[in-house]
Amino acid sequence: MNCPKCQSESIIKNGFNRLNKQIYRCKTCGRQFVLNPSKTAISQETKERVDRLLFERNSLRSIQRCIGVSASWLQQYVNNKYAAMPRQVIVQKKL
Ligand SMILES: [Zn+2]
Repeated sequence: MNCPKCQSESIIKNGFNRLNKQIYRCKTCGRQFVLNPSKTAISQETKERVDRLLFERNSLRSIQRCIGVSASWLQQYVNNKYAAMPRQVIVQKKL
């Protein structure tokens, strides 16, 4: 295993992040990283849960806390989503 920044092999374990992924730290340059960044592992099911919470007008912060995605991923996802939508008022269907 090498540091993604300086390619050093002096890597130590440095606890876990909120998603329970192992965090590693490079002893050479101090860079912290996880092996499989969560942004590549967002499943369709997770996106559908995000959509549902967005639809229910939850704040990004609460969605992030509820689902456990990163703030940067969520922000990007929402930006892309609204960019793809026609600019119109979204009328909620009453059940
Ligand atoms: Zn490094």
